[in-house]
Amino acid sequence: MLVSAKEMLEKAKAGKYAVGQFNINNLEWTKAILQTAQELNSPVILGVSEGAGKYMCGYDTIVGMVKGMIKCLNITVPVALHLDHGSFEGAKACINAGFSSVMFDGSHYPIEENIAKTQALVNACDVLGISLEAEVGSIGGEEDGVVGAGECADPDECKMIADLGVTMLAAGIGNIHGKYPANWAGLNFDVLAKISEKVGDMPLVLHGGTGIPEEMIKKAISLGVSKINVNTECQLAFAAATRKYVEDGKDLSGKGFDPRKLLAPGFEAIKATVKEKMELFGSVNKA
Ligand SMILES: [Zn+2]
Repeated sequence: MLVSAKEMLEKAKAGKYAVGQFNINNLEWTKAILQTAQELNSPVILGVSEGAGKYMCGYDTIVGMVKGMIKCLNITVPVALHLDHGSFEGAKACINAGFSSVMFDGSHYPIEENIAKTQALVNACDVLGISLEAEVGSIGGEEDGVVGAGECADPDECKMIADLGVTMLAAGIGNIHGKYPANWAGLNFDVLAKISEKVGDMPLVLHGGTGIPEEMIKKAISLGVSKINVNTECQLAFAAATRKYVEDGKDLSGKGFDPRKLLAPGFEAIKATVKEKMELFGSVNKA
């Protein structure tokens, strides 16, 4: 059953651990993440960007696939199906399609407009019991063509958005999407501590979880981060394992061209990455 992310994140915040959001791209991705969560008895959030939504033939297709998989694989851990960096229209479309959680990323709007649009979605989500993530202060790097400058969020603006009644809040603290450059300055824990103090019990979300050193992840969790988004790392693991299979010539040997064999090493690589992250985030056995 799909659930809102609210309860799992409130438990995570209180228990000083984080729940991973792993973005999905296709059936193999989804199956790998769901199976790993079940094996580790961990709550999990499946992230879907608008671009991945289009790629997978729309939100209805995704809801059908995820619900079918939960049933077929006997997944009993809490699973939230979440729109990642949604537009206002995208968030409404996912709410209608049966997603259990949505993010509205209004960080590129002036704060007044971000507040007005977020408020409208708070009302819609409340009625349906869907969790809502809002964002303040854009996150660096590129995601689906949206490039953020990576500034740190203003703690007072964070408080304004948190007070609207959103479920969780993403705030830029120097984190970026994709691979981190060699000269990256690291997470700004002073800003994170100020935001955490302002928003109280509100679970905070750390985007761009790929390549942030483990000590920084742990410190961020200790300062109120309860949801960490992982996307690029699964892509890199999948690509490396698939490359190795082909470079080893395995697709040319016997029935190695069978897509179920060809995609198997990448599938296992995603599972290993998700396991590593769930262990690092502390969500194992927290279902
Ligand atoms: Zn993000």
